[in-house]
Amino acid sequence: MVARDRSIENLIERLNRLPGIGPKSAERLAFHLLKIDRDEALQLARAIENVRAAVRTCSVCFNLDASDPCGVCSDETRDRSIFLVVEDPRELTRFEDVGFRGLYHVLQGRMSQLENIGPDDLTVGALIKRVERDRPAEVCLATNPDLEGEGTARVLAERLQPLGVKITRLARGLPAGSSIAQVSSSILADAIEGRRSLS
Ligand SMILES: [Zn+2]
Repeated sequence: MVARDRSIENLIERLNRLPGIGPKSAERLAFHLLKIDRDEALQLARAIENVRAAVRTCSVCFNLDASDPCGVCSDETRDRSIFLVVEDPRELTRFEDVGFRGLYHVLQGRMSQLENIGPDDLTVGALIKRVERDRPAEVCLATNPDLEGEGTARVLAERLQPLGVKITRLARGLPAGSSIAQVSSSILADAIEGRRSLS
């Protein structure tokens, strides 16, 4: 067998590092990019370059935005007495869409024994410091209603308890095992409205 060009191997290897892309898919995508129009392929490279240049992580809440602090954190009209803790910026967008007007804290993932992700791999330390400094009245743990999301909420509740802040969780109306990214807007709006106290 003739060895493949090193640049192809490199592309396959990089695609393979993306979440949900196994070696076979990586190979298929790489050859797809070689087959399509050259400009089309380069547009993708440019889109990645542009988004990395334009978007940064908010140093306060870890949201992704063009500015730091992000648009939410710097919006003076928002309710600063409640922090909604979410796993990633995609979920933040969903809560924005259903009209949540408080502040957020993005964990940048969730705890997982299987994947060996603990509190130190997330922005938990920054959340604790922020709560100590800004003293919100309430922290709502809006991690996903599945095994790892619930586990993450439990650990967060334990860490936040000594700070004397009111800790809440989204209402049980969210189907167990579902994901915030996928439930309907009305269910999500109800889940915020009916949040329950953990503290
Ligand atoms: Zn922010």
